[in-house]
Amino acid sequence: MDTTGGGLYDVAVVGLGPAGRALASRCAASGLTGLAIDPRPDAPWRQTLTLWADQLPPWLARDACGVDVLAHTVRGPVHYSPGRTVLDRVYGIVDNSALREALPLGAGVTVETAAVDDSRLPDLLHRAHRVVDCRGAGGPGHRGPLQTAYGIVLSAADAAPALGGDPALFMDWRTDHDDDEAGPTFLYAIPLDADRVLLEETCLAGQPAPDPAVLEARLRSRLLRRGVAGSALAAPLAVERVRIPLTPRPPVADDPRIEAFGTAGGHGHAATGYSIAAMLEAVPAAVYALVSGFPIPEPRSPASTALHGVGLRALLRADDRTLRQLFGAFGRLDGRRQRWFLDGASPSYQVARAMWGMWVSMPARGKAGMVAAVLRPEPRPAGPAGPAGPAAPDLPEAG
Ligand SMILES: Cc1cc2nc3c(=O)[nH]c(=O)nc-3n(C[C@H](O)[C@H](O)[C@H](O)COP(=O)(O)OP(=O)(O)OC[C@H]3O[C@@H](n4cnc5c(N)ncnc54)[C@H](O)[C@@H]3O)c2cc1C
Repeated sequence: MDTTGGGLYDVAVVGLGPAGRALASRCAASGLTGLAIDPRPDAPWRQTLTLWADQLPPWLARDACGVDVLAHTVRGPVHYSPGRTVLDRVYGIVDNSALREALPLGAGVTVETAAVDDSRLPDLLHRAHRVVDCRGAGGPGHRGPLQTAYGIVLSAADAAPALGGDPALFMDWRTDHDDDEAGPTFLYAIPLDADRVLLEETCLAGQPAPDPAVLEARLRSRLLRRGVAGSALAAPLAVERVRIPLTPRPPVADDPRIEAFGTAGGHGHAATGYSIAAMLEAVPAAVYALVSGFPIPEPRSPASTALHGVGLRALLRADDRTLRQLFGAFGRLDGRRQRWFLDGASPSYQVARAMWGMWVSMPARGKAGMVAAVLRPEPRPAGPAGPAGPAAPDLPEAG
């Protein structure tokens, strides 16, 4: 059914994940007619989505959209590498159902249940003036870098020994685990609400990335060593397996009327895998572009993208010791530069200043490891040692 009475839709949005739904919803609110296509348009989003609370855009504040989009917040998550740093910022866990509720499709959007492959995407120009690919990162047959993780949800009481009194663990690079099978990984531990905590062993970037089963073994040994009860680990409240392609989809056609948005369009941060905050921030400008006939703005400047690319290259190639020195340097940045590094839409001068700050505070051996990593032609193999030998013990704080 065509809501325009025989003409073309203003915009066809392909993919109704967070990005497609946000774009389709806000386009409809701006008066555009929309066609939205997804093989499972009503499938709930099961991934645990998080962002920094200060990144929630004003149009998603409770006063503006009528619902609380954040299920829970936690102030001052802690970073260990191995020195302890409190990140002085409020971390938010998205209530996925509330986010969907805040992004209604309404009568202005015609929803179709179908998959659209690359070869069929240009055909949509027979039905809409503009086509926006929101089918997510990577694409079919993706062989590029991935973030992988294995997580379990425990009751707050069962998870308490893992947190050691900290409110949340943003990245815990300490090596208090038994195995040497997964390469460099960290523990991420976030309360989902007052009663439940997500504990996740994460490989930030790998090509190939470790299988979640390997990460599961490491998580288990780490948590047992910290005093979490084996009975709790044997019966978690939920399990989360994470697989995030860290690169956008290749462009489908050289036609300015076909664009991409969300992780398909590069809103994912190549070095952290986060995308939700940058994508939500970009929605108003994308809608304005579609209303006005301009191209959708790029997610960030070419210089920022290049810097993120250098970061990803280093993450994929650095050995265990170097990576932990790098994140030790991240922990020593002031809060402002930590934000500049983490926020996906930071301008290039901010990303450069954050990366420079990390570089200067790394010990000489870490700097040598970073240079070797960036110059190394091949990514680190998945598995025990990485290119530089077995996992190093925790390092004393540098600088
Ligand atoms: C377990 C997990 C945890 C995560 N945690 C975070 C987090 O804390 N913070 C964060 O910022 N990011 C996180 N991410 C990354 C997360 O995937 C993205 O942030 C977010 O879901 C991307 O939204 P998107 O709409 O761009 O793509 P997706 O969520 O991948 O949505 C793509 C949509 O396109 C549809 N689609 C796919 N193929 C087709 C096709 N051929 N035709 C039509 N439709 C199609 C799919 O059905 C889907 O609805 C996490 C990811 C995972 C897997």
